[in-house]
Amino acid sequence: MTLSYLDFYRDYNQHQHQQRCYHPHKSTHLPTENAYEDLDEVDAQEYPVYDFTSSDADVILVSGEKGKENEGPYPRQFRVHKCILGAASPFFNDMFSLPEPVSNWEGKREEMEEALPVIPVTETKETLDLLLRFLYPIPNPRTDTLALPELVSLIAAAQKYDFPSVLGVLRALLVSPRLGFLAQDPLRVYAVACRFGLEREAREASRWTLRVNVIEAPLEEELKWVSAWSYHRLLGLHWRRAKEAREVVERWYAVVERAKEEGAGSLSPPKCVQCNGSPFTIREEPKWWVEFVKRAKEILGRCPTTEGPMELGGVGGGVFGMTFLEEVVKACGCPRCAGSVLGAGTFLKGLKDEIDRLPDTV
Ligand SMILES: [Zn+2]
Repeated sequence: MTLSYLDFYRDYNQHQHQQRCYHPHKSTHLPTENAYEDLDEVDAQEYPVYDFTSSDADVILVSGEKGKENEGPYPRQFRVHKCILGAASPFFNDMFSLPEPVSNWEGKREEMEEALPVIPVTETKETLDLLLRFLYPIPNPRTDTLALPELVSLIAAAQKYDFPSVLGVLRALLVSPRLGFLAQDPLRVYAVACRFGLEREAREASRWTLRVNVIEAPLEEELKWVSAWSYHRLLGLHWRRAKEAREVVERWYAVVERAKEEGAGSLSPPKCVQCNGSPFTIREEPKWWVEFVKRAKEILGRCPTTEGPMELGGVGGGVFGMTFLEEVVKACGCPRCAGSVLGAGTFLKGLKDEIDRLPDTV
């Protein structure tokens, strides 16, 4: 007796009903903002590993390596389905709508056991394998250990073969906090985003580059692919923001003082009992503030963000971090200025907010 589709479905349905929940995580999983990130956590071990050797495949992709020693057979064949590739990619859809010029593949076909169309591609087997795993309706590949160059190869392939759905996932990975490329290598991420015309990601990355002195940063491989236009845009952002941030710091004491005199604003300029506590010195700025302005302008000139340069540890290492303020007090030469700094919390917070409001993306 042969089973019909309907019999097969009926048996399966009955089994499902008895089991109640075959894949509990699937029945309770609700899409969220980070749907991809959540899906990535799905335990792939629950599923048999799909290895692109399906007997019902109707086309073979062959990876493009020349071959490396001791690493098994090269290049690798991927038995895939025209309908999946065609549905996901206008490029493949167009290709498969053409009559196949059989003779072109004849040479390769002799190496194959059967007569399926063979498409040799230039991507490595690793890139092709990951690309197809993102594409096929199977669990997404784990991305925890994905390195930036691997992601770049994937983006290049997804763009080349016109897989918009895969490209969407890869774009999210490029700026994903979980993978941390932005925090570790903002300039490289900016370069990658510019290379592939990913404007949204380029803007996001440009904000993160503010923690890096672009001119002094190491010459990264990814920068080879950046146009002068994109690079100039980034330098322009840094230059403008550095200039404006330095000006905000330079003017801040006078701005707050004037607002106070005019009865506007809730901030007060800091006073030090020794530096500017007497009627004779009341118009002067406390020594710590003079030192703060000098040092903050230097740091903001290099890295125009209140989060501080990456080499100082980023967040908390900036001109509003305790380390920086301690150094300022030590260097200013007034033994009473420490007390003044301690009372200047809202004054400094106001300055930080003012700098943070400056445009921070290309
Ligand atoms: Zn003082």
